[in-house]
Amino acid sequence: MTETVSAPNQSALYVVATPIGNLGDMVPRAIETLQTVDVIAAEDTRHSARLLSHFGIQTPLLAYHDHSDGRQVQALVARLLSGESVALISDAGTPLVSDPGYRLVRRAREAGVRVVPVPGACALVAALSASGLPSDRFSFEGFLPPKSGQRQNRLQTLVAETRTLIFYEAPHRIEECLADMALAFGAEREAVLARELTKTFETIVGGSLQSLCEFVAADPNQRRGEMVLMVRGREADAGEGLDEDARRIMTILLAELSVKQASQLAAEITGVRKKLLYQWALEQQP
Ligand code: SAM
Repeated sequence: MTETVSAPNQSALYVVATPIGNLGDMVPRAIETLQTVDVIAAEDTRHSARLLSHFGIQTPLLAYHDHSDGRQVQALVARLLSGESVALISDAGTPLVSDPGYRLVRRAREAGVRVVPVPGACALVAALSASGLPSDRFSFEGFLPPKSGQRQNRLQTLVAETRTLIFYEAPHRIEECLADMALAFGAEREAVLARELTKTFETIVGGSLQSLCEFVAADPNQRRGEMVLMVRGREADAGEGLDEDARRIMTILLAELSVKQASQLAAEITGVRKKLLYQWALEQQP
């Protein structure tokens, strides 16, 4: 059995993930931690009271917001320094991921307080894991600005990004957001919309941005609930995406084989797309 990093009764700030919909995703260590700490700092105490009651947790709750003045943070850090243990939770998922907690964790660490993560659900990770989009490198962009002009400006800064892009979006903005993305990235760019993850109406739909626009416009249900929108990164230019290994393998193979054969073989060896290898090889020709 794996050794426990830190028993929940030790003084520390525990950053505890909670389910993003399905209560079955509450991990046993989260329950144990929330039962044992002296106090739970929650984004919304009324919301969290329901979760705690479901799991029979009676630990006192207090409200924590990152945007409040520094007094809340100071008071919590003082409690931690006096030997108490505190758990931080948000309404759903992992605190600090588009949720409060950054200032508290930052100050706690600066004060020498031990900060212990208790991992669990996180919408962006759940969405990406089931999306079928490249997951080796990705960029989490959180929420886009709500106003169209600002949103378009932000999207423009992402046009050249080759990593998979992950956004959180509110249901009432999904249509305009998809339309702005189609403008910025091109209507044919591949995207996946993951809605109501872990819940009854979980839907994960992929296609071009244009087809997703049409899908969402045609069915009001697709404009309900919570959603993560993922967009495939820009196709890397030939050679740009080739790492040193791929270039070395291609160079060796090209000495013996045709461009087509070398690209085919190198694609099998490296997992890099044949088209990219082929284009790179053509560019190397005098
Ligand atoms: N901290 C959370 C996490 O770990 O994912 C995210 C909190 S953020 C305030 C809420 C946003 O996360 C929602 O607007 C939605 O974009 C996404 N989200 C949360 N739960 C979700 C779910 N069950 N399905 C799809 N997206 C979800």
